[in-house]
Amino acid sequence: MGEKIKNIIKTMETLASKHYAMKWDNVGLQVGSKEAEVRKVIVCLDVTKEVMKEAIENKADMIIAHHPVIFSPLKSVVKEDYKGNLIHEAIKNDIHIYSAHTNMDIAKDGLNDYIVDKLALENPDILDITDREKLYKIVVFVPKGHEDKVADGLAEAGAGHIGNYSHCSFRIEGTGTFKPQEGTNPFIGKQGELEKVEEIRLETIVPQSRLAQSIEKMTAAHPYEEVAYDIFPLNNLGEKRGIGRIATLPSSKVLSDFAKGIKEIFQLKAVKVTGDITEEVKKIAVVNGSGADYIQLAAARGCDCLVTGDVKYHEAQTALELGIKVIDAGHFETEMFFTDLVVNYLKGQNLNIEVIASQTKINPFNIL
Ligand SMILES: [Zn+2]
Repeated sequence: MGEKIKNIIKTMETLASKHYAMKWDNVGLQVGSKEAEVRKVIVCLDVTKEVMKEAIENKADMIIAHHPVIFSPLKSVVKEDYKGNLIHEAIKNDIHIYSAHTNMDIAKDGLNDYIVDKLALENPDILDITDREKLYKIVVFVPKGHEDKVADGLAEAGAGHIGNYSHCSFRIEGTGTFKPQEGTNPFIGKQGELEKVEEIRLETIVPQSRLAQSIEKMTAAHPYEEVAYDIFPLNNLGEKRGIGRIATLPSSKVLSDFAKGIKEIFQLKAVKVTGDITEEVKKIAVVNGSGADYIQLAAARGCDCLVTGDVKYHEAQTALELGIKVIDAGHFETEMFFTDLVVNYLKGQNLNIEVIASQTKINPFNIL
């Protein structure tokens, strides 16, 4: 048992690429080495000294956390300081620390979508678009008869998907020429002789996040020793990404009932609600963690209610003025699902590691 950290990072980034993260964020491997091999990964929301103790006791050699352990500029690593001590302990015990923060919020099937599912909301859309995926066109020249195999390889890697259609490609026949030089082992033809072959020009579209693996699968499925292909950057707009979701309840609900449902789902002792609790809501904005900054945008986009955490007095007042309801379900409470999400995701991948969820209660607040 054991897996290189770089493979675990690659797997994590297949779900939530670090390029998705907000500019101010600090995600990725924060302590340790990409080349190291680990056996046991512990997943948590925050790296605290209790979580570090838990990791050491459980002989975990990697911590995957939502909140970055190094966030504000770290000017020193001193054992007597809280953060310094954490990093010191991590290095001393050979524990590597990785963070997936806003990239995991933003990612499709990440934390925002997880909460949309938990709340049984339908037709999710992005609340605040931060980015659009870059698109490329791959053109590859394949000897006739091998084009389906190459197209399958591309599709398997995530190329050729348009909307709900896979295997999208365009093919045209032509003649390819080549002359094998000394030291070659050609699939067709002989060294030193000009060869003319019936070939298919196969072209398809690929998002940036799937480009490298598409080239890998394409060349593996291609019979030629040297594969001729072109990659063109496109100006077409790729899939949108962003913070928060707007989704709808299957049918309108009175705000007090919706809030009570959230209390149950998030296992809360209390929930803070602004606005008339007897009014109905249907179009819901969701921003896990600290989302009060999105009150105005959610109102402008016609949402009846924003579900988030960390809402302050004046922000609640703004919501009242704008006529949007806000449910403050708590920062911790709307993000604690990170652990389940990542544990379940990693367990479903082909990794040679044990994955456990941290059991440390790290919510700094108690409701009495
Ligand atoms: Zn957070």
